[in-house]
Amino acid sequence: MLQSVVVNSGGKISRTFPILDTYFPKGPYFIKGGKKAGKCVEVLMFEDPKYLLSLKGYLDKVLKETSESNEFHKHLSWVLAKSTLRTPKIECSFCRKETAQNTLFVRDNFGKYFSKKELVSCSSLGCISALSDAGTLNYIFKKKQIIPLRFPVFAQLPLDLGSISKFLQEVFDISELTPKTAFEFFNK
Ligand SMILES: [Zn+2]
Repeated sequence: MLQSVVVNSGGKISRTFPILDTYFPKGPYFIKGGKKAGKCVEVLMFEDPKYLLSLKGYLDKVLKETSESNEFHKHLSWVLAKSTLRTPKIECSFCRKETAQNTLFVRDNFGKYFSKKELVSCSSLGCISALSDAGTLNYIFKKKQIIPLRFPVFAQLPLDLGSISKFLQEVFDISELTPKTAFEFFNK
């Protein structure tokens, strides 16, 4: 069965993913060299998604000039494609009824973005407005941004690597982050 999809979220994400029709990994991928050698790609999606997105961008360029896509490149393309399909499991902090769809990211003194599970809202205008007010009240002089709770959006931002993994695990309801649980999460 074809799994290529077009994702539309707030009109911002719209792509097709042919990799999902051709590549079916059996398990997590562990990086073989470089500064993240030994790290699992699926776990890194929770810890540093921007790193993986940049790496894929680099490999896209290099492989275009040289040879065929290698296993690592395929796996990276696969996990990034799958990540666009994952949706939040956390409830809105304001109405406590709907599933949250947005979060308020706050920029810290080092220019890195962080969020908390209290700073998530559903799509209703009232809850988005309450989320914005909560940010104004608690982070008065900080730069803030309301963004969709989606991996492709997180992967664009410089994130606070000390806290992002815990936040993403809460949002996507992963109680224990291991190569196995992370792979199963993306392989759904
Ligand atoms: Zn709500």
